[in-house]
Amino acid sequence: DAKIRTNDRVHFVDAALSAQYQEQLLLESEMQLALAEQQIEIFYQPQVDGATHHMTSVEALCRWNNPRLGYIPPDVFIAIAEKTGGIHALGDYVLSQACSEIHCLNRSLQQPLMLSVNISPVQLMQPDFVERIAQIVTQSQLPAELLTLEVTENVLIDDTDKVRQTLNELKALKLHISLDDFGTGFSSLRYINSLPIDEIKIDRAFINDMLQNPHSMNVTRTIIAMGQFNQMKVVAEGVETDEQQAWLTEMGCQLLQGYFFSRPVPLDKLKPMLTLKQTTHST
Ligand code: C2E
Ligand code: MG
Ligand code: MG
Ligand code: MG
Repeated sequence: DAKIRTNDRVHFVDAALSAQYQEQLLLESEMQLALAEQQIEIFYQPQVDGATHHMTSVEALCRWNNPRLGYIPPDVFIAIAEKTGGIHALGDYVLSQACSEIHCLNRSLQQPLMLSVNISPVQLMQPDFVERIAQIVTQSQLPAELLTLEVTENVLIDDTDKVRQTLNELKALKLHISLDDFGTGFSSLRYINSLPIDEIKIDRAFINDMLQNPHSMNVTRTIIAMGQFNQMKVVAEGVETDEQQAWLTEMGCQLLQGYFFSRPVPLDKLKPMLTLKQTTHST
């Protein structure tokens, strides 16, 4: 009868929630091994100059190759790492590995590549964040002026004075600061213009539909103009078509990133895309 059916349904929902919870706990514990077992891989996605289409920079994007489930996207496991505190070791690892690899790669290039690394708000709010960054960058030997840290707009809401101080300390180390996924979150122009921001990245949602949606086109145009007024670099992310890149270049967007140019790739796939130094084989 009805009463029993209701109970059954409640029981069924409980079981589903509990399975989901079990899976969550399992992922959290597997995450603790991921670094030690070298399951975290770093891919690099090129950023190109809109005018010349030369690769000027790469963004490090990490992937978790989970032995049970295969590749798990960062949107899923970064959130877990933030919750468990594993984000600090993970963030240090990604920064250290990416800086070393790009520094090493630069030795064979005519023009050094710049590197962008994503930073979680949880990392940024850590009291020793700046010292950790400084130490990792020094150890990697990558010149600090080649490194850009990407933070999302949302970090600016939390504690503006603390964030301002942290960003100023990072600038004093000669690092660059980029605002990722720009236009989707909290975008008070007053804050943005008063913080030491070098670059803004237009969220790919706007790029994705700007040719169909006049609102997205307006947002894109406005962000590009804002960047120009404030001497900030502007990057369009998620550029997938020739038409999009042509419009963005026409509108004066300096830097482009997206599948149209390249997907994120492992280091060995990045090398063939670059102009190597002419070497004289004397050894
Ligand atoms: P994000 O920093 O905004 O990175 C851009 C995302 O868009 C990447 O997803 C990239 O693969 C994807 N993408 C690039 N071009 C295109 C395109 O043309 N079309 C489409 N549909 N997508 C494109 P991914 O690699 O899955 O990373 C997702 C997010 O995870 C990143 O967003 C970033 O917020 C975070 N993340 C990745 N690596 C790290 C890391 O090492 N540390 C931290 N804290 N977060 C990271
Ligand atoms: Mg990013
Ligand atoms: Mg982004
Ligand atoms: Mg994102």
